[in-house]
Amino acid sequence: MTAKEIHQKILVLDSHCDTPIMLRRHGLDIGRRSGTGHVDLVRMKEGGLDASFFAIYVSNKWEPYECTYKALEALTSVYDMLERYPDKAALATDARTARKLKKQGRIAIFLGMENAGPIHKDLSLLRLFYRMGVRYITLTHAGNNEVCDSCATKEKRWNGVSRFGRELIAEMNRLGILVDVAHISDEAFYDVLKYSTRPVVSTHSCCRALCDVPRNLTDQMIIDLAAKGGVVQINFNPPFLDKAFSLAVAPLLDAYEEAEEAYRDNPSENEKRMQEAKKALYALPRPSYKRVVDHIDHVVSLVGPDHVGIGSDFDGIEVCPAGLEDVSLLPVITEELHLRGYSFTDIEKIMGGNFLRLL
Ligand SMILES: [Zn+2]
Repeated sequence: MTAKEIHQKILVLDSHCDTPIMLRRHGLDIGRRSGTGHVDLVRMKEGGLDASFFAIYVSNKWEPYECTYKALEALTSVYDMLERYPDKAALATDARTARKLKKQGRIAIFLGMENAGPIHKDLSLLRLFYRMGVRYITLTHAGNNEVCDSCATKEKRWNGVSRFGRELIAEMNRLGILVDVAHISDEAFYDVLKYSTRPVVSTHSCCRALCDVPRNLTDQMIIDLAAKGGVVQINFNPPFLDKAFSLAVAPLLDAYEEAEEAYRDNPSENEKRMQEAKKALYALPRPSYKRVVDHIDHVVSLVGPDHVGIGSDFDGIEVCPAGLEDVSLLPVITEELHLRGYSFTDIEKIMGGNFLRLL
């Protein structure tokens, strides 16, 4: 079987993209091909992406009530989009529905929540979000919250997972919401492994052995997570793939974020500044899509092919790997796995089967 045939046959799943930000903040219509962003339903189809987790993201900088409101807004934007394009996509909350939709030629849209902020300290809100379709929660983002510490903060608040975090994890286990350890501190990671009675996932992180940044997982973390039955989904973000790129891009990213903020406040006046900041980012030589497969290889070398997958972070990352500039190019990953000698069964697991197993 050729790589192309394999890619068409298997169920391809991406465990993390930030496309709801594009829907909500930019009012993007993803039912048609769009010039902005990395994801729309047309390019998903072209890229053979059968199932995708749309992240309901909230910032740690927002007030608690604002978090809940923004999460509801993001959910609404996804529901509205699905209502508009019922022939192209539909909500999925389990593996069976995703398989059924693939047969029908429709894309399965799953919901994940990035940062538990919208739940405050109220488990009834967790149950409400479950009923709305949320099937994993990334416990926090770039700040410490009521649940646990982030890997991005200097000062830690809990030195791991809080007391409420423990209760939250227990209720997530009971309901069947996956616990996502992406973005959390190393101490919180080990608390999660200790407290969760079910396998846990890292929906969009890479390997620290190949790129030493706090957002990535150490070999020992990967081994321990796999021993518990979990899955590491490799992020496409070049600064997490390659340390040299990470160092080179850091100052440019700061400038880009400032330009983006200015653009959000006043689009007409800051359009040019934003474009220039983006151009500066893309002027740097970027790691190739093959680097994504290097990280997959590394996880496989540690724990075998049953505990790894892909979590693109499309629409949440500022730059993409060379050759993987948007979702339509996803088949290059299957092709590279095929070239490196992975069997049909292993490719099927890596490109979606492993994550699907946990749903
Ligand atoms: Zn993220």
